[in-house]
Amino acid sequence: MSQENFNELAKYIRDIPDFPKKGIIFKDITTLLKDKEAFKRALDALYKRYKDKDISKVVAIESRGFIFGGALAYKLGCGFVPVRKKGKLPSQTHAISYDLEYGTDTLEIHTDAIETGEKVLLVDDLLATGGTASAVCRLIEKMGGDITEAAFLIELVFLHGREKLKDHKVFSMITY
Ligand code: AMP
Repeated sequence: MSQENFNELAKYIRDIPDFPKKGIIFKDITTLLKDKEAFKRALDALYKRYKDKDISKVVAIESRGFIFGGALAYKLGCGFVPVRKKGKLPSQTHAISYDLEYGTDTLEIHTDAIETGEKVLLVDDLLATGGTASAVCRLIEKMGGDITEAAFLIELVFLHGREKLKDHKVFSMITY
């Protein structure tokens, strides 16, 4: 599927102005998820891209990343690793804090989630400023994971998130 064909999936994404706060146009993916053809097309395209890459873990970011990450890990026949907000994972974790527009946020991953040298695919629903994904890349690398690529359903290109991920390969399906 070409980039133009991926962008055709944009018609399934709903814009919600001023959510969760004024000035943000929230990209609502539930309208894509509920459409069996659109959800399948998005997942099949991701599967096709990574099926021969010998990925051993899909690492996905809470919470919308879990939807694509979980389904993709099942299709790829590899393991799934959740990255969660601070305090949610029950066992020992590595944590990383990163800057938000106002304040900071902390994400965690289980210390035994990734073995040194494992090929990891990072998955989230949307790349905005890249702060979240670049923090997770640092976590994965600290654990010795080898990041094959960071994959997103949506990229807000005007926020230049790729610059924060410049040491990694980045793939996105729908761009704005
Ligand atoms: P960032 O760290 O700025 O790249 O933000 C990425 C994270 O915030 C992702 O997990 C997204 O789910 C969420 N996010 C940021 N901006 C939006 C938006 N406009 N619509 C929906 N989700 C967003």
